[in-house]
Formats: sequence, C-alpha cells, structure tokens
Amino acid sequence: MSKNISLNHNSIDRATKGDSSYDEIANILIRKNITLVAHYYTPSEIQILAEETGGIVSDSLDMARYGSRSRSSTLLVAGVRFMGETAKILNPEKTILMPNLHADCSLDLGCPPKEFRLFCEKNNDREVVVYANTSARVKAQADWMVTSGTAVDVVRHLHEKGKKIIWAPDKYLGDFVQRQTGADMLMWDGSCIVHEEFKAQELRELVARTSDVEVLAHPESIKDVLEQADFVGSTTALIDYAKGSKSKNLIVATDKGIFYKMAQAAPNKNLIEAPTSGESATCKSCAACPWMSLNNLISLKESITNENNKIEVPSAIVKEARKPIERLLEFASDSKQVVFGNNDA
Ligand code: SF4
Repeated sequence: MSKNISLNHNSIDRATKGDSSYDEIANILIRKNITLVAHYYTPSEIQILAEETGGIVSDSLDMARYGSRSRSSTLLVAGVRFMGETAKILNPEKTILMPNLHADCSLDLGCPPKEFRLFCEKNNDREVVVYANTSARVKAQADWMVTSGTAVDVVRHLHEKGKKIIWAPDKYLGDFVQRQTGADMLMWDGSCIVHEEFKAQELRELVARTSDVEVLAHPESIKDVLEQADFVGSTTALIDYAKGSKSKNLIVATDKGIFYKMAQAAPNKNLIEAPTSGESATCKSCAACPWMSLNNLISLKESITNENNKIEVPSAIVKEARKPIERLLEFASDSKQVVFGNNDA
C-alpha cells in the first residue's frame, strides 16, 4: 500500500537532539573536524546530523564535488560504498570513513569488474559510460562516469559526436536515456532493487483516485512507471520540482529517505509514496534501500570514535577511475543544464 508521509520536524528534532548519542556524535564530529557528507536516502537523523554539524546532504554528484571543497582532512561518507570510493578517488590525500563498509548497492554488486572488462573488450568500438553506482574498478575501465542528473546530457553529447556507447549498469536508466537521446547504447543488465519495485498498475489506480496530483519519478524506475510521471529527474531535481510544483499532492517514486529534504523544500505538499505493493507485489525493499539503512547513529559513532571503516582504493585504480569522474565534473560545470525534465519519457 502507498502511504502518506507527514514528517513532523519537531518530533524528529526531539528524537535526535534529545538523544545523548546524537549530541555525543555531533561533538566528536566537530572536535575531530570530520565533515559528514550524507546522501538523501540515508535515515533522517543522519541527514539532520550532517546539516547541523556543517556537512551536507545531497546527491552523489554534489557529494563528490563537496568532498573536494571541504577543508576537513577526514570525511565521513554516509551512503553506500561506491560513494565512499568516489570521495577517496577525488581526495586520495584525505581519510574517508564510512559508517558501514558493507553498505553496498545492487547496481554495483551486479557489475563485477572482471565480467565488465570482458564485455568492454568484446565491444571495443564503443565509448564506455558508467553510472556513478559502480565500483572504483569498474569506473577505472570507463571513459565517462555519469549521475542520473547528467546522464542524458552526456549521452546526447556523445551521440551528437557520432559515438556508439556501452552503458552500465542500470538497464532502466539506460533505457530512459536511450529514449531521450536516440543514442546507440549497448546495455549491461543491472537494476536497482528499490526502484524496480514500484508498481505501474497500482500507481495508475492511485493517480485515478487522487485529485490535484502529480507523479515524480527517479529514472532508475521501470518504464511503465516513468511513462506515468509528470517529472523524471535525479534526487536533487525531484526536490527542486516538488518545491515549484503547483499541485497539492505529489506521488514520489524513489527511496523514501528523500522525503526528509523534500518536506523541508515543499512543506505545504502532501507527499505520497509511490506504491510498491498490490496484486503483483513481490516487494522486498519497499522504497527503502537496505544498504542505505546501514547508516545509523550506532555505526556512525563507532566509525568516528575508532576511526575505522576506512575506504582504501589502490593508487593505480585511483589514477584510472579519476579520469571519467573528472570528465563529468568538467562537463557538468560547463553545461548549463545538468538536470532534465520529462515530457515524453
Ligand atoms: S537505492 Fe538502489 S541505486 Fe541507490 S544505493 Fe540502494 S540499491 Fe543502489
């Protein structure tokens, strides 16, 4: 069933600020000059901690950029492992900690470096474009890294230059990008276990019985869901769209961690989870990434107290993986349009 989200900031504040471990963690972060860089999908108490201790809450592109700008010599990356690796690749001189090194991602796990190398070797006439949600070893084999907010622009740019593309690992995002750009894309067969769960028929029924409503979807969702969306975009783009939307009710198809920042940005909206269950239900993750949930106050405190859970990436991999990431950062800073709307997905 879909659920209406009603975030009560006061109760979140009480639950976190009144918690001794929360205060203790905030003090350790400040005393040790550790910057907390958190993703929108982490639990709300982690996002609050990042905001209140001078860190940030953002998407993977901004997290990567921010780590380089931060003056702290230690970054605590609350998200999943590839985000910690990206921070290390861009800041090899910094110490990168994570609350839990087992915080994986089905896209990363579904694209093993050795198999990917064989795939690329068999199709070596193609430009290799990988999504941010990949390991450092996979990025080291790529020409470009993209995020969900930059994928369409980068692929369009390559398509206009006559390039054929290997795309990995998310087949749904790849399919969306292909439909937007018309590029020749050879797809890796990966998917996000969270976004794959949204149900198209149940969404159709929910829209039909809700007035003054729009559907916002992340492009890792399945095609039948994206086709019903009034707006498709990256996490940051979804929050921006919610803020400017004229509709009272917004059905949102992405990890529900986003509701904390979305409710802040659009406090007068009724935010509704897109359905993950119904007659065709097989929901195992129910709009909540199990790996993002490994970021909690206990694991976070343990990591910064003992300074363990360090991300290490071999220097040869750092050298190669840096190239596709820096190519994207350069492209994104030159590009005036790094987010995209959806009129015809
Ligand atoms: S929500 Fe999906 S894409 Fe994001 S980290 Fe979890 S499994 Fe990976």
